[in-house]
Amino acid sequence: MKVAFFSTQPYDKEYFEHCNTQHDITFYEVQLNEQTVNLAKGCNAVCAFVNDQLNAAVIKLLAEIGIKIIAQRCAGFNNVDLAAAAENNVAIVRVPAYSPHAVAEHALALIMTLNRKTHKAYNRVREGNFSLDRLTGFDLFGKTIGIIGTGKIGQCFADIMLGLGCKILAFDIIANKDAEAAGVHYLPLMDLLEQSDIVSLHCPLTEQTKHLINKNTLSVMKNGAMLINTSRGALIDTKAAIDALKKGKLGYLGIDVYEQEEKLFFHDLSENIIEDDVIMRLLSFSNVLITAHQGFLTHEALTQIAEVTLQNLSDFEAGKKLMNKV
Ligand code: NAD
Repeated sequence: MKVAFFSTQPYDKEYFEHCNTQHDITFYEVQLNEQTVNLAKGCNAVCAFVNDQLNAAVIKLLAEIGIKIIAQRCAGFNNVDLAAAAENNVAIVRVPAYSPHAVAEHALALIMTLNRKTHKAYNRVREGNFSLDRLTGFDLFGKTIGIIGTGKIGQCFADIMLGLGCKILAFDIIANKDAEAAGVHYLPLMDLLEQSDIVSLHCPLTEQTKHLINKNTLSVMKNGAMLINTSRGALIDTKAAIDALKKGKLGYLGIDVYEQEEKLFFHDLSENIIEDDVIMRLLSFSNVLITAHQGFLTHEALTQIAEVTLQNLSDFEAGKKLMNKV
C-alpha cells in the first residue's frame, strides 16, 4: 500500500525500514492534523501515533482524498474518532500488544529513580560530591502497591512488584484471573487508594477514566504516597496533582505521559521558550520525575510495533480478516 507515515521519529524510520518488504512508505515528521492532512494525498493508508489528531474533521478529509485505512502504531486509540471512521468507511487498526514488559519495566524505573534518587546521585558523584545527605529512600519489600488496570501491562507490572516482595492491590472493571492466582487482591478504587504506598495507573483513557485521579481521589491517598502514570496523561487532573504535591499530600509523582503532551513530547524544545506553565510547575518539584512517553521505547517493542503494523496493512491489502481492527 502507499502509506503516509506521520509524526516520524528517527527510531520509527529505522525499525519500519528494516522490517518493511511490501509497502511504499513516505515518512513525514509533522503531526497529522487538519493542516497536514493533504500530505497523505496519493496514498491509500495512513500510519499514525498517539498524538496525531484523528478527529472527525481529519478523518473526513482523509476519506475524501482516498485513505481507506489508518494504522495506529500503538495500543491506545483515544485520539481516534471511531464513529467518524465508521461513518466514512475508514478502517482503524492498531498494535494491541507489544512487549508489555517495556512499559511495566519503565514504571519500575520511575519508582526506583524517585525512591533511591539515582538521578541525583549520578549528578552529585560526577561533580565530586560524594555526600549521601538527602538521598534516603525506602525498601520496596513489604510495601503495598495499588494497580489500576490489570490488563497486559498491569499484570506484567504486578508480577514484577510481586517479585520484589510487595503486596499487590488492584482495581479493574474486570478482574484478571491469572493476576488473582498470582496473589493480586482486588478492591474498590477508594479502598485501594487508601491502603497503597504506591499507586500505578495501567488503564486506558476513556470517558470513565478521564481525571480518575482528581482532588477527591487524591485526598483519600496515604500521606506521602507515590503516584506513577505510564498510561495516558489525562487519567490525572494535573492541577489537582500539583496542589497535592504543594501540600505534601502526594510524596512523589512519576509520569511518562502528560495531559498536554502533544505540544511538547517527542520534540527537542531545548532552545525554545516553553509556554506550558503547568509542566514548568511540575518540573520545579524535586519529587517529580517526568519522562517524555518513552515507556514503549525498547528494541523488542519497536520491532513488534513495526512488524504488526506492516502485517495489519498487508492483511487489509489482501482482503484478509483484520485481527487488530478497533
Ligand atoms: P489492556 O487493554 O491489556 O489493559 C487495560 C486494563 O484496564 C483492562 O484490564 C481493562 O479492563 C482496564 N480498564 C478499562 N477501563 C477501566 C476503568 N474504568 N477502571 C479500571 N480499569 C479499567 O491494555 P495494556 O496493554 O495493559 O495498556 C494499558 C495502557 O497503557 C494503554 O491503554 C495505554 O494508554 C498505555 N500505554 C502506554 C505506553 C507508553 O509508552 N507509556 C505504551 C503502551 C500502552
